[in-house]
This record gives sequence, C-alpha cells and structure tokens, in this order.
Amino acid sequence: MPLNRPLFILILLALAAFGLIRTCGSDTRVPISRSRILMGTVVEITAYGRKDQAVDEAVTAAFAEIARIENLMSPHIDGSDLDRIARSDAPVEVAPETAEVIALGLEIQKLSAGSFDMALGGLKELWAIESEQPRVPSRDAIEAALRGTGPGGLELQGRLLRRAQPHLHLDLGAIAKGYAVDRAEQLLRSRGIESAAINAGGDLRMIGSKQGKPWRIGIQHPRDAKALLATLEVEDISVVTSGDYERFFEQDGHRYHHIFDPGTGYPSDRCQSVTVVTASAALADALATALFVLGPERGLELVKQFPGTEALVVGADGKSVWSPGLEGRIRWP
Ligand code: AMP
Ligand code: MG
Repeated sequence: MPLNRPLFILILLALAAFGLIRTCGSDTRVPISRSRILMGTVVEITAYGRKDQAVDEAVTAAFAEIARIENLMSPHIDGSDLDRIARSDAPVEVAPETAEVIALGLEIQKLSAGSFDMALGGLKELWAIESEQPRVPSRDAIEAALRGTGPGGLELQGRLLRRAQPHLHLDLGAIAKGYAVDRAEQLLRSRGIESAAINAGGDLRMIGSKQGKPWRIGIQHPRDAKALLATLEVEDISVVTSGDYERFFEQDGHRYHHIFDPGTGYPSDRCQSVTVVTASAALADALATALFVLGPERGLELVKQFPGTEALVVGADGKSVWSPGLEGRIRWP
C-alpha cells in the first residue's frame, strides 16, 4: 500500500491535538498520542480519557486491530487473504472482514458505473507506480492488463471470492485503510473512549469532539505541498482525501499518478483531489477514489445517493466544488 499520503494533515492534526492540552481547569485531559507504521503509512492515534492507563491500553489495542487487518489485506504479507488469492487459480474463501471490504467495494463499483474497480492490481503493477522506476506502458500492455476487469471480474458469494480470470489481481489499496480505521474506531469506543482521532496517512476518523470543541482538519492543497486548500471543523465523523499528488511521476510534462480510470487504463485526469466526509472511513475511502475517477460533476451526483455524506472536489482545472451540506462549513485560507 502506498507510503506517500498527506503527511501534512497528520502533522496538523498532531499539532492541533496538543494545542489545547494543559489549559486551565481540573477537567482538562491530556491525550495519549502515539504513532506506528502500519498498512504502508504512518498511523497516528490520539485519544482522551480520564484514566491514563485505560486510554493507553485502548490505543495499544487499536493499533493491534489495524495490524490484524493489515495481516489479512496486505498483498505483501505471506498468508494474507490477498496473498492466498494471488497464489490460487481457484475461488478462495476469505476472512469475514475481507469479505465485508470486498462487498462494499463491489457495491461502490456498481454505483459508480465501474469507476471503482478492485481488480486493477495487474494494471498498477504494469505502471510500477509504487516502484523507483514507474513507466508509461504500451497500449497493448494496458489492454491486456484490463482484460477481465469491470463488471463480473470479481464475484463474492458469502466469503468465497471468485475471479473471472485467475490473472486478475485483487487490490484493496483504495479501501482497506479506511476499513482498518473503522475497526480501530470501534475498538476504542468499546473501551469507553469518547474523544479520539485516528489518522492513517490521511484517512481520518474522529470520535466525538476534541474536548468539547470541533476537530479542525486541514485539507492539503493539491498543487502546493506546504499549503492548505481549506480547513473543516468536524465531530464524530470520517474525512478521507484522495489526491493525484500522493504518488506520481512526470514525463513529457504530464503527471501520471496512482488512481486509474478503469475505462482507459490511464491515471484519471478529471480531478486533483477529492475529500469525502461521512460516518464510515471505509465508505469515505472508497468514495474518494470513485469520485476522483468520476470527476466533479458526476462525483457530486454519486454522493447524493449516500445520506449524510459530503464531498469537496478539486477538478482538473483547480476549481473546487462541494456538496450542499458543506456549504458554509469550509474555511478557506
Ligand atoms: P486512494 O489513495 O484511496 O484513492 O487509493 C488509490 C489506490 O487504490 C491505488 O494505489 C491503487 O492501489 C488502487 N486504485 C487505483 N485506481 C483505482 C480504482 N479506479 N478503483 C479502485 N482502486 C483503485
Ligand atoms: Mg480510497
């Protein structure tokens, strides 16, 4: 999974988390804040609670939960569900968690008219986008990598995953991190945590408020790594961003990045970044990627189908558009 996510947001969140500590009043709590490298990115958890030891143990358990999900869904870990699928020509029975993620992804694939597709693993390898030497492949090679993708490429019956063709590589890179964040959130809540923020390389999930105040989330400017595009004040919700600045290379003045249009096999050129705000981080993660491929207009149409879900989309021209629910809630610099 890509290492290069908006670390800027992470730093901002950390600064924000510590900013309000040790103000006056006996009720003010000190957060426990720790980070670990998991799922190919920096995961930071900041949690508030009355008893330090209980909060610390909850944070430890939340990290362990993310590691457990990584062990199921990473393509790079021996014996993971993805590893077993890649090694098998036959249908593979996956863990309930993996089945849940695949089922959500298939739903988003359907609703996004195929813009979201978890069978693009072969295409991703072809572009070598995560390697030191990414390249623009030949059209023939792209066509070959796309063969069998699209509707019916992946089928899930219960926990049994069937691929239309054994060469199809399952890739959960656009959704698994969000799911892991959801699991960590559920774990923290089950331990009684009522105020926390989880940040998995830009996939954010906030529990409650930050000690009675909203969490302030910075959204990275897609064309200026040192600047914020905007900030959002939120409580008890997920905020996930997909951007073409996260992982890319340039050739002949063109930017080639890691979010592919399944229709062409090339990186999608309709957006610079998409931020989705909704309860579930897995849904936000999948939708951010799907909207990126759909583009601003069709993307905002798709969002309408998800009650309680909002989006801020920066189009290829650099212009921002957003869903009506964000009206008045976005702070511009
Ligand atoms: P994200 O950063 O969440 O938008 O996810 C991007 C990652 O998802 C890429 O690195 C690929 O592993 C995978 N991916 C790329 N294009 C697509 C797509 N159209 N649908 C689903 N997954 C994709
Ligand atoms: Mg995503």
